[in-house]
Amino acid sequence: MVDHPLVAHKLTVLRDVRTDSPTFRRLTEELVTLLAYEATREVRVEPTEVDTPLMRATGVQLSPPRPLVVPILRAGLGMLEGMVRLMPTAEVGFVGMVRNEETLVATTYAERLPEDLTGRQCYVLDPMLATGGTLAAAVQFLVSRGADHITCICLIAAPEGIARLTKLLDGMHVPCTLVLAGIDDQLNDIGYIVPGLGDAGDRLYGVV
Ligand code: URA
Repeated sequence: MVDHPLVAHKLTVLRDVRTDSPTFRRLTEELVTLLAYEATREVRVEPTEVDTPLMRATGVQLSPPRPLVVPILRAGLGMLEGMVRLMPTAEVGFVGMVRNEETLVATTYAERLPEDLTGRQCYVLDPMLATGGTLAAAVQFLVSRGADHITCICLIAAPEGIARLTKLLDGMHVPCTLVLAGIDDQLNDIGYIVPGLGDAGDRLYGVV
């Protein structure tokens, strides 16, 4: 969890039931940029040289292949801008997942990702880690395509979701990290995180 007063402040305003959609979208972007700073700590770089106005200096640049950012539709889309602001050369792939609100089981309804993710570092964006079903399915999907390093960025997680994801990751050969702005108390009986912030997709984009 990213322990920073600005992250905690922005998350508090995001939770507020009176925060309207435009403000919610802007705050989500700002929060993700702050989380992305921590989440990209392990991004691969290689040495390079640069000519300053005075002399040649050594530095680093992102190593190929380009990192892949994967927002999980619909709510993960609200996190994309904040992420690519910090890493503009990243590629973006999309996964559409929806959970059945009765069974809480996640299914994939759309996917636009490279077929071969061998050697790619992937950053998965999903604001609410509730049961963990959606994120676990997305991580498994990326690993099955060859991704070899995965970082999940969420705004709020429930302990149940963290436990499920951790269990999945324990049995995986690929390093996977979870970066969060907050950990809440629990899930309620309809699978919502409490206290949470409600339905992140609805709060970003309205009820459809
Ligand atoms: N998805 C949301 O948007 N909110 C929750 O609390 C749980 C899942």
